[in-house]
Amino acid sequence: MLSNLATRDVETLLHPYTNLDAHRSTGPLVLERGEGVFVYDTAGKPYIEGMSGLWCTALGYSNDELAEAARAQMGRLPFGHLFSGRSHDPAIELAEVLKGLMPVPTSKVFFTSSGSEANDTQVKLTWYYNNALGRPRKKKIIGRQRGYHGVTVATASLTGLPANHADWDLPLPGFLHTACPHHYRFAQSGESERAFSERLAGELEALILREDPETVAAFIAEPVMGAGGAIVPPEGYFEAVQAVLANYDVRFIADEVICGFGRLGTWFGSEALGARPDTISFAKAVTSGYVPLGGVSVDEPLYEAMLAESRKLGTFGHGTTYSGHPVACAVALKTIEIYRRERIVEGVAAKAPHFQARLSRLAEHDIVGEARGIGLIGGLEIVADKASRAQYEPKAGVAARCVAFAQGEGLIVRFLAGDRVAVCPPLIITEAEIDALFDRLARALDRTRDWIRAEGLT
Ligand code: PMP
Repeated sequence: MLSNLATRDVETLLHPYTNLDAHRSTGPLVLERGEGVFVYDTAGKPYIEGMSGLWCTALGYSNDELAEAARAQMGRLPFGHLFSGRSHDPAIELAEVLKGLMPVPTSKVFFTSSGSEANDTQVKLTWYYNNALGRPRKKKIIGRQRGYHGVTVATASLTGLPANHADWDLPLPGFLHTACPHHYRFAQSGESERAFSERLAGELEALILREDPETVAAFIAEPVMGAGGAIVPPEGYFEAVQAVLANYDVRFIADEVICGFGRLGTWFGSEALGARPDTISFAKAVTSGYVPLGGVSVDEPLYEAMLAESRKLGTFGHGTTYSGHPVACAVALKTIEIYRRERIVEGVAAKAPHFQARLSRLAEHDIVGEARGIGLIGGLEIVADKASRAQYEPKAGVAARCVAFAQGEGLIVRFLAGDRVAVCPPLIITEAEIDALFDRLARALDRTRDWIRAEGLT
């Protein structure tokens, strides 16, 4: 029986990324409040928020300073925009702070309200730039299979997941996908991580040559793939790929929407993984998820080209009502102040070995093929046979079942395509809470194994 609130949910809400049919009978998990790394449902049951919401609530759930920063800004200037040269101090100050933090040469910062809008802006800037440079054929953008970059028409095209393409008439022409850098799943037998990285770089080069380098403008990648499976790239991956991009004058866009702001124990994921992008997209943890904010860095050559174009056209024709929303900028400034004051990023680096040790221990579990991560992010893959790495039928929904068992154990984690389970807790998590998280996840895996046996799945 669904509760009153759950029934009202089913009758009124269209849920993103949800099995709409199953939702009609299972109903929603309705959360009411949060404190630290815990969230509580309407019955008062606590859960460790092992996903930081959607990879975003880095400072946990009850940060009064962030709430106060939003309240104060709302009381002062609740709305202000940046169109036609208007401005306000939270946007100016945040742009300055971010310029100082960016892992890439940055001339300007452009604000959006989400990761999708940030990456959509990257697509448009890439096209605009090449038009400005007088090379209108150089427009194609290469993403990766299982990469995730958002849901707008262009960013769903960059994304390399079937659910974002099937039935949506996507990808659009000019959006290509190269191989997924998942060593456990896609390396050849005996192939080292470095050899795998070299092979993937070779495949990327072959794709660029096949398409004609004069038509390929950019490559986009998340430092660690998030929604595609919480996948850490193999050793030497970005080094190998960057060498190819440099040869063909292909810009490298790093999608730091998940990895940015400390997740890997460095301010940006690129720094932890040897990636040297030309530009980055950010969102999520820039405000610890408390209010929507995203953005992109703009380097000097890009800005110069846009400046010349705007002289011709009279304006730079891009922007949304909420680009640089003052409340979002004020919360971001406070978030970054707390990251610095509390040494949150250094804290992640210090806690990561314990987190990763607990994660790797799960690889010993009967149904776990791989358990791997970096910083405070982890992915595990459930397999039917550890030796052959064979998987269960996708329709058996084994990882979804594991996530439901975890929920029963008081832990929120997320299942992803390919029977993968992701873990990505708030950066403020303590070592004791890390232990509780993995104890609960281990129990959920036990229950999943027992369920597999009872169902007779093979
Ligand atoms: N890029 C990455 C790497 C993401 O993980 C996400 C969201 N999970 C997005 C882009 C899209 O961000 P949003 O949902 O805010 O549009």
